[in-house]
Amino acid sequence: MKLSDIGEFGLIERFAPLFKHLIPEGLEGIGDDCAIIPINAEESLVITTDLLVEDVHFLKEHILPRELGWKSLAVSLSDIASMGATPVGSFLSIALPENIPVAWTDEFFNGYHDLSSKESTPLLGGDTTKSPDKIVVNVTVVGKILNKYIKRRSGAKPGDLIAVTGCLGDSAAGLKLILLDMAKEGVSSALARSHHMPVPHIKEGKWLSSLAEVHAMMDVSDGISSDLDHIMKASNCHAEVWLEKLPVSDHLTKVSLENGWDIYALATGGGEDYVLLLTIDKNMEQEIKNEFFKMFGKELYIIGEVKEGLPCVDWMLNDEKVDLCKGFNHFG
Ligand code: ADP
Ligand code: MG
Repeated sequence: MKLSDIGEFGLIERFAPLFKHLIPEGLEGIGDDCAIIPINAEESLVITTDLLVEDVHFLKEHILPRELGWKSLAVSLSDIASMGATPVGSFLSIALPENIPVAWTDEFFNGYHDLSSKESTPLLGGDTTKSPDKIVVNVTVVGKILNKYIKRRSGAKPGDLIAVTGCLGDSAAGLKLILLDMAKEGVSSALARSHHMPVPHIKEGKWLSSLAEVHAMMDVSDGISSDLDHIMKASNCHAEVWLEKLPVSDHLTKVSLENGWDIYALATGGGEDYVLLLTIDKNMEQEIKNEFFKMFGKELYIIGEVKEGLPCVDWMLNDEKVDLCKGFNHFG
């Protein structure tokens, strides 16, 4: 059996149980967007770590160093946002080939600093080492949250509505355009920017976490077709998603029409949008949507419903069930 037979999540499921007995009561480890370490009865630290490998997560000749610095921090901050927490600080470990220009590293740290400043999140430590060839970046972020506000993947309940805090598919379309060398200007370069400089929804996450009627939350890193599966497995519920309700930008619609791309495949399977995916009490739909609009000047999009049943997702298009490809899975 090879790793590709079990995939990224199959591998995690194999080793995670080995460590369960070492986790003390009250701590939460592998399985959610962040680990949770209680400080006291009121507050916890949440911790996440993410790895970016050259030629797997980014192509050096296609991404500016300033964009890579931003993105390296953004993907971890997005996990902090998904718990509803406030970031406290970050740790950056980086492996670099020795022939890389110092100007490249300066720009990388300028980009990392841009987002650190925007989210008031200091760089608190890390590690720097030589790499034989490729660039490898690992970012850990620590956040803080009141225990009563923590949102987990496991909180969804039958009857909840499923929502997202922003458009889906822009990042995947941006990547396609970058790889086709078509991301030079206008709409295409805006989509490429979504891929290279995602903006973590920290303020949205903090506000949503303060609502008891928000039941489950995670961030969209692999595409909702994979990410929603995680919520359903953790919550032991079934989901129905209404494809015609997925929020897609005018930019995505335009390039998909021009290039004959399947807009639903991009919006569900593409990933790296780093918006928040959540479930809410159906009875509070209008109040939450109205307040969200007042707070953030944008819509909270309702895309489906949680049901009782097998922990998987039914994809519906105008009330008919359709087949969809899965989201991103390393080795899968
Ligand atoms: P995310 O996309 O939110 O960063 P992942 O899908 O990468 O989360 O990981 C799922 C869960 O598995 C997380 O709780 C993560 O911390 C854990 N995990 C992934 N890889 C490892 C690893 N090598 N060792 C320990 N835990 C891991
Ligand atoms: Mg995540």
